[in-house]
Amino acid sequence: MDPLEMDIDERIAAAFEKIAQVSRILLWEAASAEKLSPIQLQFLLHIDGAPESLRRVGAVAREFDLTPATVSDALSSLESKGLIVKETSEEDRRSVILSLTAKGRKTVKSAEDWKSSMIDTLRAFPGERKEMVMEFLTGMIASLFARGILGSARICATCSNLVIMEGKTAPRFVCGITGRRFDESGMMIGCATHSAR
Ligand code: SF4
Repeated sequence: MDPLEMDIDERIAAAFEKIAQVSRILLWEAASAEKLSPIQLQFLLHIDGAPESLRRVGAVAREFDLTPATVSDALSSLESKGLIVKETSEEDRRSVILSLTAKGRKTVKSAEDWKSSMIDTLRAFPGERKEMVMEFLTGMIASLFARGILGSARICATCSNLVIMEGKTAPRFVCGITGRRFDESGMMIGCATHSAR
């Protein structure tokens, strides 16, 4: 399509593609430095510090919108590299829980700043504009999740712990777990204590 004929929605989608491209490049660079594939590094970053419920094979597959078979292959490779261990859940003996080994934690430590150049770039923009962007992006993620295009959102807008203070002035949201008050721009993304509605 001729870029001159793109409407605002098509140009926003094109801009998302560019940002996603930067994200892919940064992740690829960080993963290569650790001799991993990008998805293997993403799994390690996900497992690090996640509660047990998010460290099951099925939960990892949901989080990344992948099939359990694809996830299992990448996890077996991480296990053979000595970066994760698979343990049987004490609550449910049929369930496998993933944990980082000391070597896996070391790998996460050296790769965890993979998006720092993106964050540094964002720091140069004024706070007010970023709050508007954040409000827009959380709304966009919630819509994609509601339409079934995104399999896992784990954002406040889809969380049963979110309390909406009707009739109150901003900030009108409260997290039922932490008690934190916030407005649309303060919504968490990828929250470990998210509970689906
Ligand atoms: S538990 Fe997490 S996702 Fe849910 S409302 Fe609190 S901060 Fe938001």
